[in-house]
Amino acid sequence: MVKGSQRIGVYICSCGGNIDNSLDIQALHQAANNMKNVVNVSEMEFACSPESREKMAEAVRRFKMDRVLIAACSPKLYLKEFQQTVEEADRQGCMVEMCNIREQCAWIHPKDRQAATAKALDMLQMSYDRLMLQSSTEKSNVSQVNKMRCTGCGICESVCNFNAIHIAPDNEFGGSRKATVNINACEGCGACVAACPTAALDQTCFSNAQVLSQIETYLKDSRMGFPRVVVFSCHWCSYTAADTAGLKRMAMDPHFVVIRTMCSARVDPEWVLKALSKGADGVLVLAGHPGRCHYEIGNLRTRKRMTLLHKYLDQMGFHPDRFRIAYVDSEEAEGYVKEVNSYVEKVREMGPNPVDPHTRVSPKRLEMPWLDIKPPKKWDEGLEL
Ligand code: SF4
Ligand code: SF4
Repeated sequence: MVKGSQRIGVYICSCGGNIDNSLDIQALHQAANNMKNVVNVSEMEFACSPESREKMAEAVRRFKMDRVLIAACSPKLYLKEFQQTVEEADRQGCMVEMCNIREQCAWIHPKDRQAATAKALDMLQMSYDRLMLQSSTEKSNVSQVNKMRCTGCGICESVCNFNAIHIAPDNEFGGSRKATVNINACEGCGACVAACPTAALDQTCFSNAQVLSQIETYLKDSRMGFPRVVVFSCHWCSYTAADTAGLKRMAMDPHFVVIRTMCSARVDPEWVLKALSKGADGVLVLAGHPGRCHYEIGNLRTRKRMTLLHKYLDQMGFHPDRFRIAYVDSEEAEGYVKEVNSYVEKVREMGPNPVDPHTRVSPKRLEMPWLDIKPPKKWDEGLEL
């Protein structure tokens, strides 16, 4: 569901040759022109320069834009500046989305212009979808409760490391116990959101709908052939390492896309299931090393949750290597490249996901041994699990 009115401006930065030396930004320009509700597309040599930002603010006013998509460098570098630019044009800063086609595409795929362009087009579409689902009332990434769905189970309260959630009787709901988030205490890790069993919680700016739309877009419309690997990456740890890998021009296999979350604990098992059921050939979660989490214990929760998920996926019949969790800290660019490249290689060896809806393979799923389990003659013989 698209939120609010939609008049989108798309800005594509060539970064003085840093981006357009490796990929075709004309193709991105054309793709952006064809996107629904896009009212202006511009190429910029240095989008971050004061002159370009001034032009951007002027265009935001002139074309009455309410959303801005910038395909350029890492959001860790200039997102705040671009948000400020849009705010100077009297728009909401949260309606800016950056698509990291420099560090996480052009710089790591310098030798294969065609693949780099195909991947950048995928990334642009994913960022567009994410932006379209952004609400203008959301200021920062905090947790929100839908009290209609909340059963008052208290799981979120016990998961929160910052004492930001409290469960108490709520008069509006006849005194039933409901969760309340103190947004001043919430650090925005999203751990509680992934833990809620009733989907009563969501995170602003990193909503379930936004992440799921990115997954779906990548798997439905990807220009990249087999393999297609989804990598969930923590903003503070592996995403930083990924940017450094780009900065160091470390060559990588292009057959993956990164979906950024604030903490690996935000990765909802449902996202992994969704990706695999939509035909991802592999899913990799990259958390920081245990004990070195920006949110202190977020990645410990990730490890526990993902270990359980592994068992669950095994029960569903997925090959154990269709999903992997690995640990990469912010300074480990080499570790990031090694983990991603080796995983993509592993997935390539395994072959396509047999549940890929595009391959039209019959649902006799080769990796799903449970399909071949014969029921016991008598139920008291038990099923061997
Ligand atoms: S985990 Fe979900 S259902 Fe349980 S109290 Fe928290 S918000 Fe409500
Ligand atoms: S997002 Fe993190 S800090 Fe905020 S309420 Fe949830 S667990 Fe607590």
